[in-house]
Amino acid sequence: MPEKIVILRLGHRPQRDKRITTHVGLTARAFGAEGMLLASDDKKLSENIADVSNRFGGDFYVNNDVSWKAEIKKWKEDGGKVCHLSMYGINLPDAVPEIKDCEKLMIVVGAEKVPFEIYEMADWNVAVGNQPHSEVAAVAVTLDRIAGTDPLRAEFEGGELTIVPEKCGKKVIDRRE
Ligand code: SAM
Repeated sequence: MPEKIVILRLGHRPQRDKRITTHVGLTARAFGAEGMLLASDDKKLSENIADVSNRFGGDFYVNNDVSWKAEIKKWKEDGGKVCHLSMYGINLPDAVPEIKDCEKLMIVVGAEKVPFEIYEMADWNVAVGNQPHSEVAAVAVTLDRIAGTDPLRAEFEGGELTIVPEKCGKKVIDRRE
């Protein structure tokens, strides 16, 4: 499994996509990515995700307002691989063995239409099933399929809040008190 995974979020429109981009970031964090690169300027969104990280633990980061082209170039120069998620790509189960083999993985997801250059720069254009759905679902399923250990069992260190699983009810250890 890749040791280092980042998500590159393209095409985020602050007025329209706030909720879904936040969910891309939170899902990436929950399923084992180390950070999200946001190719738009939305400082507030980055702060909101950092706030969740502080409260629930781990070191997830958001780099706001990056240049997608510069980030992809730099990533590839450093030996990283790029997986662009698109319903037009090859189906994920056919790409998993190769993707699992790389050490550094950038996963690219769009919002509005993705520039064709991304398809050309990517090492893999991968569909999470060749049906249209959502970038949040695409990120979750991809991270789950390429994981070495079960991401649902991951522990996040250093948080103020820890949820204790319960059959019924909401139990939270709160270290702020
Ligand atoms: N209309 C846009 C286009 O033609 O590029 C795509 C909109 S879609 C809601 C937003 C993002 O969700 C896509 O850029 C892609 O990353 C992801 N996505 C949606 N369905 C997917 C699928 N079946 N497999 C992989 N990614 C998918």
